[in-house]
Amino acid sequence: MRNEFLPFSRPDLEEGDIRAVADVLRSGWITTGPKVAQFEEAFRNYTGGAYAVSMTSETAVMEVLLHALGIGEGDEVITPSMTWVSMPNLTVLSGAKPVFVDVDRETLMVDPAEVEARITPRTKLIVPVHFAGSSVDLDPLRAIAEKHGIRLVEDAAHAIGTRYKGRRIGSSGTAMFSFHPIKNITTGEGGMLVTDDLELGKRARSLKFHGLGVDAYDRKTHQRAPQAQVIEPGFKFNMPDMQAALALGQLERIETINAKRTALAMRYREKLAEIEELRPLGDPSFEFQHSWHLFIVRVVTDRISRDSFMEELKARNIGTGLHFRCTHLQTYYREVMGCRPGTLPNTEWNSDRILSLPLFPAMTEHDQDDVISAIKEILAR
Ligand SMILES: *Cc1c(COP(=O)(O)O)cnc(C)c1O
Repeated sequence: MRNEFLPFSRPDLEEGDIRAVADVLRSGWITTGPKVAQFEEAFRNYTGGAYAVSMTSETAVMEVLLHALGIGEGDEVITPSMTWVSMPNLTVLSGAKPVFVDVDRETLMVDPAEVEARITPRTKLIVPVHFAGSSVDLDPLRAIAEKHGIRLVEDAAHAIGTRYKGRRIGSSGTAMFSFHPIKNITTGEGGMLVTDDLELGKRARSLKFHGLGVDAYDRKTHQRAPQAQVIEPGFKFNMPDMQAALALGQLERIETINAKRTALAMRYREKLAEIEELRPLGDPSFEFQHSWHLFIVRVVTDRISRDSFMEELKARNIGTGLHFRCTHLQTYYREVMGCRPGTLPNTEWNSDRILSLPLFPAMTEHDQDDVISAIKEILAR
């Protein structure tokens, strides 16, 4: 057994990244400033998108977006239940109703036909998730959104570097990214809206900072009057320079970071092929490039529950994650929204069986062998 605990995720931070943050602290300008501008430009460039706005989290991006799109009372937002709770929660807080859609059992991606079946005259927004770093099938989803005149916004929390049919997620349409510490690059906490809708992007930029015409740094560098005016009431979700500075080096290394994740994921697939009790996720059938944010397996034996399996791994110093417990069966959604079990069969089947195995760039093959032997030991009993 390992002596040292192996976390399921660990950020890829180097001394240079830490120094970059310290430099900001010494510079005298620590909130939104030149580093944020540089990070937004570098990220926009990397994804190939037209416009990028950073915020304090992806959840903040969602809040701004729902507000900017005027979504509220009487509206519906189509989202998978198999996602992090941010989008459903903020939809409820906006006054609108989340409409949950089932996912493919093997890829955990929303099925475009299921999405279309849930469209009503009240539907205002569709938010698919690029699950685990793979890609949803964007072409049919975009066609459906266009046909019904509904906005499509991609939850790309897992998809930094993911490609769909050769093009990076974010290169067209509207996508929301997260820089939470478990994501492929981190700002500690942070998020980014990348969009080809310039009007939406500029509105989001104003809304993330009190609804002023420009943010504090723009006022400084553009020599604007410090008495900038409120165009419409906004939020306070601006990313500070300390955080942007942390990510600049990681973004330069992103291809290496993702390549290390990919190599480990391929090795997991190979080693797990002989273990019948664990089933990794499957690949979609179209051309795509995985960013391997998560390596998810499903426990498909009646001999041990997923929860006991996670505990047994922890007892052997192996950390795991759970991405995700489905949203519609969580307390609020059952008790207040009246969501019921049995309504989203593939989501619920996976919700009971999934766990995420350790996967991060600094993880060694030796660490990975420890995970595999712990798994074999648990399942052999
Ligand atoms: C991490 C995550 C989010 C939220 O991101 P934050 O930056 O933590 O707000 C949203 N959706 C999914 C699918 C995520 O994994």
